[in-house]
This record gives sequence, structure tokens and C-alpha cells, in this order.
Amino acid sequence: MSVVPVRTRFAPSPTGMFHVGGARSALYNWAVARQSAGKFVLRVEDTDTARNRPEWMEGIIQALAAIGIDSSDPAFEGPYLQSQSADRHRQAALQLYTSGRAYFCDCTREQLTERRESEHLGYDGFCRERGLEPARGRALRFRTPDDGETLVVDLIRGKPAFPNSAIEDFVIARGDGSPVFLLANVVDDLDQGITHVIRGEEHLSNTPKQQLLWEALGSAPPMWAHLPVLVNDKRQKLSKRRDKLALEDYLAEGFLPDALVNYLMLLGWGPGDDREIMPYPEMERLFRIEDVNTSPAFFDVKKLSAFNGEYIRALSEEAFVAACAPWLAGPHVPWRSDAFDPDVFAAVAPLAQTRLALLSEITGYVDFLFLDEPVFDEASWTKAMKPGAAQLLRDARTAYAAAAWRAETLKNVLIEVGERHGLKPGKAQAPVRVAVSGRTVGLPLFESLEVLGRDRTVQRLDAALARLTGP
Ligand code: GLU
Repeated sequence: MSVVPVRTRFAPSPTGMFHVGGARSALYNWAVARQSAGKFVLRVEDTDTARNRPEWMEGIIQALAAIGIDSSDPAFEGPYLQSQSADRHRQAALQLYTSGRAYFCDCTREQLTERRESEHLGYDGFCRERGLEPARGRALRFRTPDDGETLVVDLIRGKPAFPNSAIEDFVIARGDGSPVFLLANVVDDLDQGITHVIRGEEHLSNTPKQQLLWEALGSAPPMWAHLPVLVNDKRQKLSKRRDKLALEDYLAEGFLPDALVNYLMLLGWGPGDDREIMPYPEMERLFRIEDVNTSPAFFDVKKLSAFNGEYIRALSEEAFVAACAPWLAGPHVPWRSDAFDPDVFAAVAPLAQTRLALLSEITGYVDFLFLDEPVFDEASWTKAMKPGAAQLLRDARTAYAAAAWRAETLKNVLIEVGERHGLKPGKAQAPVRVAVSGRTVGLPLFESLEVLGRDRTVQRLDAALARLTGP
């Protein structure tokens, strides 16, 4: 017996952004295809031409590449454009008509509404036996079986059965002859030999209709798998208005692709033990579509940030420096472009690496090293510059003007100055930290001072004193 090779597909409608939910669907399809040396087909469902733009295809390919779904991998097939099969969709519609599985309907919207209000929930079958010929303005409807049920085999949800009597005679081509999504999607899946349709739960209501179409077109339906919906912290379905959805936005904020992939894989699935941080290849090996659960998956940005922090800490020093590069140059950095010093950055990079949750935070951690003057955060200033701060800063300045310039010494010197003021080490650090960096939180102070250098440190202590005590 020959085994049919697995063929999954990812079939986004181009919208100009790549939804994190789409990324999860793509990853699950990718994992299932690669596990069995099958194929992952990318098909862009671009039939809604009014909204489609060619550059969106490029965006989809790039977003997939960012999450490791590389179009040059042997498992990758496509991209195909749905619009290129328009003739095939029309041909399938005609086939369903000529075989008697579909009929034309000239009911107007008003007529439908009027009749619907009176009795039926869906279409009432008014034109079923009228034998209307094809004509402009007539929609083509699928003749659903009167009795029996459509049993959908869903690898995640078991075998939901849909009574055929509850499925209306749905439209498969509009009055202008153009096939609708339901049909085009099935015809493409069928022609592309798709064996597993793995997609979001929002499509589950289409599935019995689509399965009827598969059967009517003479093919055995695929395996279905409907992935659980993604929700926010209020248990609401993620939406463009409320939530940040675009994968691109997460990448731009400094989430590492590996961390995103790891987190997305866990939205509805787990390896069966307590492990969460796991590289993709291992998850691919362990992933089983049957183990995906049905309950809504909480897209927890805080947890994603924690994952990201772990991934940042796991980078080699070199890789971390390279990953930070986009946040250290360009129009958004607060320092002059010639002020950035890669050696200075390299000296503090390991200190920052342990502290970041997002790569984009790096700019705020190191700006004080490259700016002529620190940017003071007013809340930090008020918090740190308590009565007595001026005298402390004055004493620290005097001590630092003469101290050996090493972190360890700078620390001991400040502890001693603090003691003279009756302050615990942490309390003595705060005004100095704000004076040199502008903020109460940041990199370890004494290592920062060592890198900043004596002259600039002393100069900043002077400037803070002047700010505190007036001219
Ligand atoms: N183009 C559809 C969507 O983006 C795909 C549906 C499917 O995966 O079958 O929702």
C-alpha cells in the first residue's frame, strides 16, 4: 500500500500585516509537513482584488522567513496565488452545476430577507427545482443533501457531526459568475493535493460545507484540524483594534524570532512535560497535531517578554552585540551619529544583556554613554535628590576626582562617602546614578562609571550639583 505524502498548506489572505495567529498556524503546518518529509504549500488567497497589493506577497514571504519558514527549504512549495486559478474555480462551479449538485438562483436580497423573517433560518430552497439557466445576476447555490449528516474528521476536535438538514443551500458563485471563498479554497486544496487543512477555529463553521464540496467534486476530504482561538488578558478574541497583532511589530520592538517561535508553538500545544523554553527543532520533533487542545489560548505578552529575556540571555556576547545593532543607529537614537563608540558599547553589553526583556530597551540603557549630557527623567530626579543629596554629590565628586578609576574602588569610595552621611550603600548610589545617567534604574553603577571615565563623571556630578543648588 502506498502512503500518500503529507501536504499541508498555509493560505493567508493578504491584508498588509502578518497576524501572530497566522504565524502560529504557519508554524504548526510547517511542523506537520516537515515531520513526515512532506510539503508545506504557501498559497496566498488574493481573490479579493480590491484589497490586494503585490508587495504584500513579499511581506508574507519575509514574515515566514523570520519565523524560520524558509522558502528555499525543500519542504516549502509555492508561493501560489489563488487568483491565478480563477479559471479552474469557474470550471469547478460549472462542473457542480452540470452534475446537478448546484443550481442557479435569482432571488433578490429583499426576497430573501422577507422570506427569512417568516420561516427559515438560512436559504429556503426556493429556486431548487426551478431549473433556472445560467444568467448574469443569478447566483449559483450548492444543493446540500436533504438528510444524513456530514462527519468531519478533525484531528483536534474529534469527529463533529453536522446534520445536513441544518446546512443551507449556500452560494458558491456570485451573480457575476465569480466563485466565493468557500469554493475557491476547496478547489485549490484539492488541486494542490492538500492532505491536512490546519487552520484557525474561526473556519470551523465553513468546514461541513467545504467537505460537501470536496465530496461533490469527487474527492475524499482532507484531515481537518482547527486551532484554538487566541485571546487577550480579558479573554477576548485578539482584535486589530484592541491588541498588537502584527508579527512585524513584535520584531520591530526587539522580540527575537526564536523567542517568538518558541512562544507561538506553545499557544495550544505543549511538549507534555514542564519544559517551555525549547528550540524549534526539538519542538518540531515532539509536536503532534492531535495533542493541540481546544480551549482558547491566552496570548500573554508578559510571558512572551519573559521568554524573550531568556533568549536574549542565552545569546553569545557577540550575537547579542550584533542583535542590538538596529537599536543603536538610525534616526531614532538620541545621540549624534558620530558619538556612538562600538568599543564602549562592547564594554557594557554583557551588563545590559542580563537585564533586557526587549532588544529595543538597549537604547535607554546605554544612551548616557553617548550623549553629551544625560537626559533627566524628572520622576527619577525627584526621587533621588532628597535633602542632603547636594552635600553627598559634592563629597562624591571630591573623592572621585582623586580615586583610582576601577569599579571596585569607585564602589568602596561611595560606600565610605555614604557612611559619612549615615546612608546605606543603595541610598548613596541613587543621586550619583541619576546625576550620571538621568535615571534611577539602569546598568550596574560602578561598572558604568568605569566605562564613562573620570572626566565625564566628575563633569556630570558638577552639572547635577549646579542643577540642584542653582547658579
Ligand atoms: N484565506 C483564509 C484566511 O486567511 C484561509 C482559510 C483556510 O486556511 O482555509 O482566513
